[in-house]
Amino acid sequence: MKGSRGVVLKSNRELAIMRRAGRINALALLAAVEAVRPGATTADLNEAAVAVLREYDAEPAFLGYPGAYPYPAATTVCINQELVHGIPGNRRLQEGDLVSIDCGAIVEGFVGDSAITVGVGEISAEAERLIQVTAEALRVGIEAMRLGHRTGDVSAAIQQRVEASKFNVVREYTGHGVGRAMHEDPQVPNYGRAGTGMTLRVGMTIALEPMVLAGRPETQVQEDQWTVSSVDGSLTAHFEHSVAVTPNGPLALTTLDPVLDAGLGDRYNGYFAGFPKPVKDQGARG
Ligand code: MG
Ligand code: MG
Repeated sequence: MKGSRGVVLKSNRELAIMRRAGRINALALLAAVEAVRPGATTADLNEAAVAVLREYDAEPAFLGYPGAYPYPAATTVCINQELVHGIPGNRRLQEGDLVSIDCGAIVEGFVGDSAITVGVGEISAEAERLIQVTAEALRVGIEAMRLGHRTGDVSAAIQQRVEASKFNVVREYTGHGVGRAMHEDPQVPNYGRAGTGMTLRVGMTIALEPMVLAGRPETQVQEDQWTVSSVDGSLTAHFEHSVAVTPNGPLALTTLDPVLDAGLGDRYNGYFAGFPKPVKDQGARG
């Protein structure tokens, strides 16, 4: 999903709306993740998310998104070697699969965009490490979203964290500005050089989304003209939060509310709380 509408700085009032959109998107994503079990179809996960979007009168940001043909669902659901843009359908999850779910919600005209990867039941040690490293790459990316830093600092932090664990970042798809449009400037690739790129300013809102492959970094689009998979069939993982640059540091927008959603944010290594503390992992720190 590409395209850009320029960099748009958000006011505090607009950031408050984006926080509401982000929370609803987090609730939808959480519902989808909680529906993950052996035997569930990818459409079941999508429907769990749609029910939450409906409950909160949020519009699905992905539905109808322009491509080879309009995107036909509210979420993308990817299994194992599928990296992004998988169309939910009648395929069933199996014990040991990795499943990535990406969702977008429009609330009061603003988009929340976030994604998570989880295992189905027991997964291999390699799959578990891939999830942890990708989550950690998002966390270090968020931490780099500070005033005076540049987009290249964020990109480099993500790339270094991934490559320190001998995994690869995708080249063809990037993080992106997010706001009234799902894809605004700047693009923030998952690779880059520190000290380059656009300087981060207060009110910038960027969806950071490390997309990581256990094998070679090349991807290909499948016959359905949406689903993107690893060329070598290797496992992939994808985590995303929409994040604002504020005078007090980075603010993850697509998180649950610590009061309204008390207790739920602790699940999945703190992902739904925006990673308040480092996730456990065996690899080197970026
Ligand atoms: Mg997304
Ligand atoms: Mg995105």
